[in-house]
Amino acid sequence: MEKLQNFINGTYVPPKNGQYIDNYEPATGQVYALIPDSDEEDVLAAVDAAEKAFPIWSNMSIEERSKILVRLSEGIERNMDEFVQAESRDNGKPVSLAAHVDIPRAVSNFHFFATAITHFASESHHMEGVGINFTTRKPIGIVGCISPWNLPLYLFSWKIAPALAAGNCVIAKPSEITPYTAYMLGKMAQEAGMPAGVLNILHGTGPKVGDAIVKHPKIKAISFTGGTKTGEYIARTAGPMFKKLSLELGGKNPNIIFADCNFDDMLSTTIRSSFANQGQICLCGSRIFVERPIYEKFKEAFVAKVSRSKVSFPSDPEAKLGAIVSEAHMEKILSYIALAKEEGGTVLTGGNRVHLPAPHDQGYYIEPTIIEGLSYDCRTNQEEIFGPVVTITPFDTEEEALMMANSTMYGLAGTIWTTNLNRAHRVADQLQSGIVWVNAWLVRDLRTPFGGVKASGVGREGGWEALRFFTEAKNIFIKYE
Ligand code: NAD
Repeated sequence: MEKLQNFINGTYVPPKNGQYIDNYEPATGQVYALIPDSDEEDVLAAVDAAEKAFPIWSNMSIEERSKILVRLSEGIERNMDEFVQAESRDNGKPVSLAAHVDIPRAVSNFHFFATAITHFASESHHMEGVGINFTTRKPIGIVGCISPWNLPLYLFSWKIAPALAAGNCVIAKPSEITPYTAYMLGKMAQEAGMPAGVLNILHGTGPKVGDAIVKHPKIKAISFTGGTKTGEYIARTAGPMFKKLSLELGGKNPNIIFADCNFDDMLSTTIRSSFANQGQICLCGSRIFVERPIYEKFKEAFVAKVSRSKVSFPSDPEAKLGAIVSEAHMEKILSYIALAKEEGGTVLTGGNRVHLPAPHDQGYYIEPTIIEGLSYDCRTNQEEIFGPVVTITPFDTEEEALMMANSTMYGLAGTIWTTNLNRAHRVADQLQSGIVWVNAWLVRDLRTPFGGVKASGVGREGGWEALRFFTEAKNIFIKYE
């Protein structure tokens, strides 16, 4: 069985404790690789390497650093098919999704920040007759990047790319549930000519190696994407150490559909925003609010189309939904469907585990599920499920829609469907979330701020926001004589 290794100081090495954990293929439910069960000792080795590499990397000209990162992005692009297959196998997502979304986006992330850094400028503030302030922005030093399993290389690179571009050395940990493409990235860094120790990739569990990264005093900033509970723990640990923190956490996003929307566009996009990646995208709209005059029409059309969506193994080109990422997560999703029924919900379509024929008979598959008849404030409508499960709820007024949409502890993203421009502005302005799409979903411009409010996180990623996060500002004032 293949044994993955950590990438430390520019080479692949086994974990110091010699221990490994199982890596499952969600499509079959079988273990297909072993990953290092790293701990504090591996973090110490990575920090040591990063410390030695920092003067080299941070003093390298921006042009040279940029070239290395461009080469890294080109390396992923050259090996696109290998990355696509690996991502799909590790995560369970349809190959077509990895090919169209995940891996191309990882390429873009590196390319975007490799070139962004060459345009990144700092500010000066002139005080008439008094003097001038100018602000320098320097890399922080060694930073930690911890990412989740749902968009593995996509989110891993979304953090690593700006951290490296800004001149930091990185200790990164992908999710232990989807380590494979992060493992492959080490080789791309070698081939791109990245100096040893600049990028270190450690594998293992959150409580063990993740915690050791968060606690290491020489790691000065933590960029984390994952669940709200984990984010809370990280904030509690890193806060008193005065580390810079970027936390991208959970969501329970509303999708608000007004009767005057372009119905066909809305319907096809709503199917994607509900069930893409088996609903395991932090931006998926899991609470659908529909204006009453079109509620029945929407319900009928939505249920009819979704019930025909094919759930299949990831390499099936017809698959609209692939496998759920793990058995534990599948059980969690099924328990929420059971809860929804207890809370009085009616399952309009789906609701069950899907059993495919061998060799996928032990895989983790769930039907796309639509539930109605629940109150907006029940647990099913308040807690993050993060699976192929949505609820639909009618509303009568804009105020009511906004009240229900804003009723959760989360505030990551929201979608509004209307052709009334005034209403689009009004509702977008009042939605409590970091991101709003009007008549669209998941249209991403890498320059825009990305992140949430309330329990969905602290800070923003993307564009200058990310480069500012991964640098320290110093203001210098010079008096005019
Ligand atoms: P998770 O919080 O369980 O794990 C995320 C990462 O943190 C993993 O690498 C894990 O090993 C690590 N980790 C766990 N405990 C840790 C600890 N004590 N110290 C340090 N690291 C630790 O989340 P998950 O289940 O992998 O991902 C799903 C969650 O991620 C969902 O809540 C989803 O909404 C969220 N998410 C948010 C965004 C966003 O941009 N806001 C994007 C994708 C996913």
